[in-house]
Parts: sequence; C-alpha cells; structure tokens
Amino acid sequence: MCRHLGYVGPTRSVHDVLTAGAHSLARQTWAPNDMRGGGTINADGFGVAWWGNEGQGRYRSTQPMWSDPAVNETLPSIRCGAVLAAVRSATESMPVETNACAPFADGRWAFSHNGVVRGWPDSLEKWSEQLPVRDLLELEAPTDSAVLWLLLRHRLREQDPIPALTSLLRDVETTAPGSRLNLLLGDGHEMWASAWDHALSVLVTEDMAVIASEPYDDDPNWQSVPDRHFVKARPGHLIITPI
Ligand code: GLN
Repeated sequence: MCRHLGYVGPTRSVHDVLTAGAHSLARQTWAPNDMRGGGTINADGFGVAWWGNEGQGRYRSTQPMWSDPAVNETLPSIRCGAVLAAVRSATESMPVETNACAPFADGRWAFSHNGVVRGWPDSLEKWSEQLPVRDLLELEAPTDSAVLWLLLRHRLREQDPIPALTSLLRDVETTAPGSRLNLLLGDGHEMWASAWDHALSVLVTEDMAVIASEPYDDDPNWQSVPDRHFVKARPGHLIITPI
C-alpha cells in the first residue's frame, strides 16, 4: 500500500521534504516499515505537489523515486512551504502510468489515497452515478484512487473538507466493506487525513505540521493516529477525532 506525506511549515526545497530523515519518503519507496500486508515496496511511480511563493506545481512519474533524475536534478531548486507527496505500489489489476500516480490535484487541492477499494469498480458504481458526466470524462486513470478523487472533489464543491471526507468514507464503506481508506487532502495551508485500516502518524509543532504514513525520523513527538480516526493539522494546530 502506497506511502504518503503532507508537509506545511518553513520554506524548504521539495527535494528536502522527500529525502530528509533516516526514514524519509524516498527511503519508504524501497524500505517501508509498516505496509500491513499490502505489498512490499512502492516502486510503481511517485508524485509530489507543492505550494510555493512562485505558485503551485506538481510532478509525477512512473519511475521509482530512487531512479528518476528529476528528484536530484530539479526538485532541489523548487522551494515551497507546503508539499503533498506519494510513492505508489499499484494495486493488482490497476495500471502503472503517470496519471495513476497521486497526488491528484485541482485548483488549490491535492489528494492521495493509501489503500484499496474492495470490489472496485463495481463497488464504486453507485457513487459514481451521482457525478456530473463532465467529471467522469476527466477521470485520469482507471484506478480506485482516481475515482475516489472525483467523488471527493465533487463533494468539496459543496462541503468543507471534514464533512466531505467523512461522508465519502461512510459511503464507500457501505458498498465496499473491508476497504483500506487512508486519504490525505491538502490545500497548501492545512491538511486533512483519515486512518482507515492503515498506518498513519502525525508530527505538529508551532512551526510545522507533517502527516505521514510512517514517521520519517525518531522524533519522540510523532503521534500514531488510531484506526478510524480523522486528522486535521497545520502548524500549531492538531485535531485527532474518531470518524
Ligand atoms: N489502489 C491504489 C492504486 O493502485 C493505491 C495503491 C496503494 O495504496 N498501494 O493506485
């Protein structure tokens, strides 16, 4: 099951966010600690979205993070105060292609999903029927995560992140029980995430906030998020609440 990471804090390079710490997201590409039976390594591509003084940007690749030259040649010169990144272990039967790599993005939003929707695609049919046809035409890849993004994006037009994410989780659980639904949403200022049958940790100080599938270092202030809990975080602000 993929690994993801969200950061909001002091300005630094995108490369630094991906590689800092003895157990950085880059290292979690080939040596994750806590996949909970969902795959072994995260070598089916990666993606990163950033929010900086020069605006927002995104880079995605089907190469593992360790072999894509952009990681060392391009990302060190991009500076930003917020990042949302993911490394991918494609679920069986889902394609390995750039468009299938999180983060999915639209406007100020970026989104990632760690996990699998059981019974996909049938189990998401009921919810997808409620989407405008225009949205369905924009499906980036035939994967469970790409459909989850369309469903969430539609709800975000009418709802705040917490009700949008909560209603999506509850709906998907009714038609796809047993799914693993660690969702991560960011807007460059705040982050929202769910722990739903998968690993999730959070580190918040006055200056910065990080939400990550796995802690990237041994800072004792990392908190493990209990299962079926929701996180909202920004620098100096953390809420962990049952879903
Ligand atoms: N099911 C999603 C995909 O294939 C996420 C994979 C994962 O979390 N391992 O892209």
